Amino acid sequence: MRTRIRALVALATLAACGAGGPPPAREFDAKQALEYVNTQVAFGPRVPGMPGHAAMARWLDSMVRTRADSVTLQKWWHKTASGDSIAMTNVFAQFNVKATQRVLYLAHWDTRPRADNDPDEKNKHMPIPGADDGGSGVAVLLGVADALKKLPPDVGVDLLFVDGEDYGMFLPAKVDVLIGATYYAGHPLVAGRPIFAVLWDMVGHANARFTIESNSQIAASDVADRVWNTASALGYGNIFTPVGTGAVTDDHVPLIEAGFRAIDVIDINNYAQFWHTLQDTPDKESLQSFEAVGNTAVAVIRRALK
Ligand SMILES: [Zn+2]
Repeated sequence: MRTRIRALVALATLAACGAGGPPPAREFDAKQALEYVNTQVAFGPRVPGMPGHAAMARWLDSMVRTRADSVTLQKWWHKTASGDSIAMTNVFAQFNVKATQRVLYLAHWDTRPRADNDPDEKNKHMPIPGADDGGSGVAVLLGVADALKKLPPDVGVDLLFVDGEDYGMFLPAKVDVLIGATYYAGHPLVAGRPIFAVLWDMVGHANARFTIESNSQIAASDVADRVWNTASALGYGNIFTPVGTGAVTDDHVPLIEAGFRAIDVIDINNYAQFWHTLQDTPDKESLQSFEAVGNTAVAVIRRALK
């Protein structure tokens, strides 16, 4: 994704959360999420066309098939701006398939082919390890799948692992990026729209602080309220702070453009020094951040119909 500096959006203070009642359960295994990051990075770069991409696709498929009620692989060829055709796969895992009211969570599983932001010139054309940028979002979705396998949800849940988020260039215009999310927006696998959609991207690093990205705020402020209020009820109000921040061009944008009520949970500000560098490695990931994000992600599902 890329960021655009904007004037901070002044947001109304979020309503105090959880009018009575016990706090939501903490069902997410953050230690396991860290292992999921390690496993992904060990495949090598998950760049379309590279061996790590193929190995990751097989692993992801096997992981969701042993957890979800239904799995669909959405495969197509993407024609790049330079005329190449690259094989793309979105992995779509469903829980409570028959439910008509559904929640969509997504994360990108590919990683960036070039470390554009690396301070060392000779690294700029090398693929990034993608521990946080790619690995963390997938780890959250797989941890959610573990929790939903243990205790099936009352709402329908769709976990969408999108390919090709980070393949091309974001500037000066979007070229060969957000490929999987754009494809899904045009070829959704469920009739009708989910109640809401949440993208989880760059969510596992140490000292992560989540502010409300402005495309999300504009498109679906009530969805942001759900997530931030749930985090607060779980005791993570220090990590999820309900203030506005600049716009990020990420996989939620094509969904919003297609009429989904979608938001992006992302912290790029506190990861800027490692983002799109060869230093995006598992040692930057944090148990505390995964606990906050993962438990929030599961609890938002548990509360979706309430
Ligand atoms: Zn990226």
